[in-house]
Amino acid sequence: MESLSSTLVSENIGLYLHVPFCKRRCTYCDFVSFTDFSQVKEYFEALWKEIELWSKFLPRIHVETIYVGGGSPSDVPFELLEKTLERIRDMFLIADDFEFTIEVNPNCEFVERLRFLDVNRVSIGLQAADDEVLKCVRRRHSVGDFFRTFETAKNFAKVNVDFIVGLPNESDRTIENDVHVVETLRPDHVSIYLLETHESEFETAISEVVENRYERFVEAVKEMGYDRYEISNFALNNSFCRHNLKYWRNEDYIGLGVAAGGHLGRIRYVNSPRLGEYISKLKEDDFVFDYFSRNDDLQELKETIFMGLRLSEGVNIEKLREIWWMFDPYELFHDLLGEFLEIEDGFLKLTERGFDLSARVLADVIDRVSLMAVGR
Ligand code: SF4
Repeated sequence: MESLSSTLVSENIGLYLHVPFCKRRCTYCDFVSFTDFSQVKEYFEALWKEIELWSKFLPRIHVETIYVGGGSPSDVPFELLEKTLERIRDMFLIADDFEFTIEVNPNCEFVERLRFLDVNRVSIGLQAADDEVLKCVRRRHSVGDFFRTFETAKNFAKVNVDFIVGLPNESDRTIENDVHVVETLRPDHVSIYLLETHESEFETAISEVVENRYERFVEAVKEMGYDRYEISNFALNNSFCRHNLKYWRNEDYIGLGVAAGGHLGRIRYVNSPRLGEYISKLKEDDFVFDYFSRNDDLQELKETIFMGLRLSEGVNIEKLREIWWMFDPYELFHDLLGEFLEIEDGFLKLTERGFDLSARVLADVIDRVSLMAVGR
């Protein structure tokens, strides 16, 4: 940790907390979460220890954003979340206008209590406005549960609704329902993800249908006045997720809990995904990194470009030159500029077409940056 204490960190950071428990696993889930709740209490005690350790390294830092994700934070005892926030308040300086987001599965009673935690942003995982799809992927809620939860949350917080396109049993009707939900409720923020598949023959055959559905959903949401400020994220009236903006702008944040990651100055780390190891190491007052590295210039440049191009604002070229002074987007991307990339007011960004083909364009951009370094 010596290298960490010598790292230059901004005065304002984001803080992510991972709650890796779910009462039941959804079929498509790729996240680190456990259905055995026997160690929940011990896990939170370890998390409180990790909060304390980080506060010693970052004593005068302001926490601007807190994001509690999972897993299902709405599945764990409320008192544990309450105590966690108390610890954060005791150990860190909290900015006056801090953003506090929590992810929930539709559950009214839980959400109702969040107002007492000073939560001001609730992210509800609806995934699909279609009970058949929800049942098929073993979600533990109905569309009706979602509506009730949304009504409760909007009384005291900004609300995001998460959707996934490409789930099993989905039909065109599912997407029509999704669009209808956004149209009638007008949440402050909407996230629309395309389910990642692992390319079996069947998956390749259906992928075009799914991609078309995704595009239709995105177009409909844009027509309703939402700003597509990130590839998968849409906001009304500038209700951007300030916490996630820190990721995309490659700013400073710490991640606490199993499998959580952070970026501080040039340091990038990821905690162990193993629950037992996480708990036992923290009992010994030690961090539990699975990965810990100081980015060299090239790595920092690649990360900053890769994350920044996900945003419609793009990435500040001056910032890139501070990392790599010879960086010249005109030379490096000359044949991509116009169709897939553009430069506007000192920012390098994807064009509309580049946004639509972002996976391929980003891969090409990063390859070129790597080659640039070889040829320097
Ligand atoms: S609620 Fe989220 S984290 Fe939990 S199993 Fe379902 S997809 Fe995974």
